[in-house]
Amino acid sequence: MKETLNLNAQAVLEAVHTAPSHPTALQIYETVKHTRPHIGLATVYRILHLLVGQQYIKELRYSDESCRYDAKTARHDHAVCMACGGLFDLPVAVDLPHEALEHAAQTVGMQLASHEVRLYGYCPSCQQQNH
Ligand SMILES: [Zn+2]
Ligand SMILES: [Zn+2]
Repeated sequence: MKETLNLNAQAVLEAVHTAPSHPTALQIYETVKHTRPHIGLATVYRILHLLVGQQYIKELRYSDESCRYDAKTARHDHAVCMACGGLFDLPVAVDLPHEALEHAAQTVGMQLASHEVRLYGYCPSCQQQNH
């Protein structure tokens, strides 16, 4: 059930959509401050939590325990740059047989709901710097 969003929540949602791909809470806060100068970081965190709960956005747990937010709520896969930490949406679906996913989930007794493939490597600009 989606509740009607108040102005702060609308501004936060807007910021997730307009900020660079997969922003952190801090980046969202910096963006929201332009339109809602009195908003606090704690409020932004609270609203992000609410927006995730109501499935307006998705939360991405990150290897370093930091959290990024995703404006794209449909299931999709990601690629992570091991040098700059860039997080990219894969424009193509990685085809995994459903049975294989089900089987893997069963090994830990989990009822499968969704899955995400994450590729690790070096993004184009980091490749240029290293060669
Ligand atoms: Zn990179
Ligand atoms: Zn994404």
